[in-house]
Amino acid sequence: MKKRLVILGSTGSIGRSALDVVARNRDRIDVLALSTHRNIEQFRRQIQEFRPRYGAVTQGECCFRFQKQYPFPGTEVFSGDDAAERLASLPEADIVLNAIVGAAGLKASLATLKSGKRLALANKESMVIGGVLLNLARKATDSEIIPVDSEHSAIWQALTSGKKEEIKKIILTGSGGPFRETPREQFRDITKEQALNHPVWKMGPKITVDSATMMNKGLEVIEAVHLFDISPDKIDVVIHPQSIIHSMVEFVDSSIIAQISYPDMRLPISYALFYPDRIVSSNGHFDLTDIRQLTFQKPDYEKFPLLRLAFDVARKGGTLPAVFNAANEVAVAAFLKERVKFYQIPDIITDTLEKHIMVAQPSLDDIIAADIWGRKTAEEFIV
Ligand code: NDP
Ligand code: MG
Repeated sequence: MKKRLVILGSTGSIGRSALDVVARNRDRIDVLALSTHRNIEQFRRQIQEFRPRYGAVTQGECCFRFQKQYPFPGTEVFSGDDAAERLASLPEADIVLNAIVGAAGLKASLATLKSGKRLALANKESMVIGGVLLNLARKATDSEIIPVDSEHSAIWQALTSGKKEEIKKIILTGSGGPFRETPREQFRDITKEQALNHPVWKMGPKITVDSATMMNKGLEVIEAVHLFDISPDKIDVVIHPQSIIHSMVEFVDSSIIAQISYPDMRLPISYALFYPDRIVSSNGHFDLTDIRQLTFQKPDYEKFPLLRLAFDVARKGGTLPAVFNAANEVAVAAFLKERVKFYQIPDIITDTLEKHIMVAQPSLDDIIAADIWGRKTAEEFIV
């Protein structure tokens, strides 16, 4: 039986890689639905190629234009705020790949799990801000969350080598981003072009800036806490510039299991879609002798304060992760519009967090309220 797939955020970097995986595996998987926010030209091309039964353009005005410019009688297109959730809840779907960027993906992740489907999760922000709720929804329907983030996919794979109670440590690797070697004194001069030039990965703009500030690694720490139900104190971050080892798990006998591959998101995407099977992946050949050396170093928490802050936020939990994430989304958007400098991003987030009165065991409404509050407050620090 072919699997029926919904891709939310199909016009983004992960969404496009996922469609490439689908195109190479048409005998195993069908696209049931696709969504975009506003990129209707690219969406039109995707609809033409994959002919999904359903689609969604989540930005209202763009949906109106899409319907007018590109009538596709075979594809029913939803619009508006809840359109992604509607696709995630489709009874015909088996798997939902959530590749939306930011907190905007939370409700769709929840809807996927509440309707009992496999959630292939790229949208790490929904796990960061709503991890407790997602885990409850997963348990209630006995559904699955399979990570797409390369580090968490690596950890997932390494965990098959031992039992949960045998884990000593999760070792989360990171490339260190474009400013790994840049002296702190030069951070004041960092431009948008430099921040968007990641040494290893070609990704959407938000996560690329997050990688440059190391906020991405911080979000990944919180993501791992919820995905693997593990204390932040059992997570170590290690800088590994070659990005060949995608993360590791150390077990109580001090044996470390690592997942090794060339950096290509099509591999973790395929793993999440076809798990527990493995399929022939895109890049084929892997020769260790081409790589020559693998190096490791400790992260510089002074240069990248958001990474340290992420551990504090992970320990305290409640609504703090929602505010941490919301302030970051606002600060990064402002940086991309050149309203703030790169070095100001951590200050905006820290100042916002300091003003927050946290709710310890938040409901979905509390998390949404914290997200809105965090955005508004962060905006006030941008002058
Ligand atoms: P992109 O910015 O490239 O794509 C994001 C997608 O989400 C686009 O389809 C976009 O539509 C859509 N979108 C944007 N805003 C909204 C919204 N408010 N509501 C609904 N849909 C929206 O991001 P990436 O593909 O790089 O990242 C997606 C997610 O995957 C992120 O959470 C990221 O952290 C995670 N991730 C990405 C990796 C990568 O290699 N790129 C690696 C690991 C994790 P439109 O095209 O119209 O803007
Ligand atoms: Mg990652």
